[in-house]
Amino acid sequence: MSEEEPELIPAKWIEIYHYCPKIIYYMGVLGARERETEYMVEGKSEQENEEERERRRITLLAKRKEKVIRRWMNLKLSSEKLGIKGEVDFIAQTENGTKIVEIKHTTINKLMPGYLYQTASYAMLAEENLKIPVRSIIIHYIKSGKTFEINLTDEIRNHVKWVTRKIKDIIEKEKIPKVQKIKECRGCGYYKVCKKL
Ligand code: SF4
Repeated sequence: MSEEEPELIPAKWIEIYHYCPKIIYYMGVLGARERETEYMVEGKSEQENEEERERRRITLLAKRKEKVIRRWMNLKLSSEKLGIKGEVDFIAQTENGTKIVEIKHTTINKLMPGYLYQTASYAMLAEENLKIPVRSIIIHYIKSGKTFEINLTDEIRNHVKWVTRKIKDIIEKEKIPKVQKIKECRGCGYYKVCKKL
């Protein structure tokens, strides 16, 4: 990380850490970036379309009968206390409390820990910046149509803080984390870099 950049960790890196901590070393220490594939571009555009539809809806994610009283979209938030920054796609104040909605372009069917903790970090940013308690986080997969809602607990908050410390540690100590060969290697954009080290 260069000296001009604030020492804040992008919330997206919390997701990446769960995929593989070595990528944090490549990005945070070596400054490497994954090449944007057509699939990633298509995903971004579908995600933006879904967010645009969500902006116009009266109820949350259409199929839920939950009325949205107020919404915030694409908020850039940061926190020195948490040491993170990020752009929160969608915050919904509903009749059942405030919820953070994260839309992902994926065909998978299960809740991925990286998505959970990345979204939880957005919730923590929203709580601190907007001074509102967040009740839960909702993760919606566009491709598989799956939606997960998880209450924001102290256990989840503590895990986000723990991962943030781990990420800072990798960057500050410039130490490659030890990772056993993992199944994610096959689809990883850093595979070529990784093989050489
Ligand atoms: S190739 Fe495998 S070990 Fe290397 S960064 Fe990617 S997922 Fe991690």
